[in-house]
Amino acid sequence: MSLYKYTLSSCLLLFTLTVNANFLNTKYLWDTPEIPVCWKNIDPATGATERGWIKDAANKWADATNNQLKFTGWGLCENNPQGITIETNNDFVPGSSIGKKATKENDPSMKLNLYVGAPDGWRGVTVTNCNLKTEKGRKACIKGTAVHEFGHALGFSHEHRSSLKDDACEKRYPSILDKDYSWPKYSILINQWDLYSIMNYCNPDQDGQLSHLDKIAIKTWYGNIPRYEPKSKIVILPVIDINGNKVSAELIDIGNGKFKLAALKSTTAGSASEAKFRSNKLHIPMLKYLGDDPNFPRHVTSLYDVWLSFDSATNQFSVISSKAIK
Ligand SMILES: [Zn+2]
Repeated sequence: MSLYKYTLSSCLLLFTLTVNANFLNTKYLWDTPEIPVCWKNIDPATGATERGWIKDAANKWADATNNQLKFTGWGLCENNPQGITIETNNDFVPGSSIGKKATKENDPSMKLNLYVGAPDGWRGVTVTNCNLKTEKGRKACIKGTAVHEFGHALGFSHEHRSSLKDDACEKRYPSILDKDYSWPKYSILINQWDLYSIMNYCNPDQDGQLSHLDKIAIKTWYGNIPRYEPKSKIVILPVIDINGNKVSAELIDIGNGKFKLAALKSTTAGSASEAKFRSNKLHIPMLKYLGDDPNFPRHVTSLYDVWLSFDSATNQFSVISSKAIK
């Protein structure tokens, strides 16, 4: 499986040919799901409403993780700011650095246009159907663009650069769909062209919404979901709901589809995808298998929806079914 949309490469600026030459990878995912955000240029007299729209846009990603991902701060940037640094203006093309590479090399790491006085159809408007002549339209432009740019800031690259792109998309954007692009190692999760991704210029809806696969991807990397670690052969379950009680647990893989229960304790942690235990059956709706390359510890090889049965006499689980998530 791979997920081309989630390759972590770069589009610094929408609709320009300026492209960061360095492809990025899972190393550029943020280390923690709490990411500081600050404004380079808060003008208290203007832009408060627009900054609210931008914050709402960022939180679409956070919402999809059941708020495991959090954008914090949102004040004026101080010296040497950490995290995402946003500059707003009315006349530049929006863009963002990719993932945590952001502030180290680029400050501001994100540029967003407030479209005050910008002509309708201006080239900076690319990700939403929006009409700059109306306030409602301008809001749609600002929010939709910000959702897309926050996708970059979280590590995602352009879906329309996928080798799986369809012919119509290729024809529409021949200049930016550079055939030389290849995706970085270990950056792909589900091998599927996602026309409706917020990261896809060819998205016919252009409505500023996250697609089904956008949501799966953000949960996978920032949602504190269950994971299988091949080296230790352990399944880590951050949250299991047992009739309303929340516990964490580890399952030790003892082979032949059997797992021994270990490290069970109550928890206050959250997860974008909790496991559930009912009537001696454990359902893990999203289980990510991590790769085993030490240079790419956050590489996910695949995602599964798994059911297991529990035998209290042996304290063991047995796999009932396991199917790949698409
Ligand atoms: Zn972009």
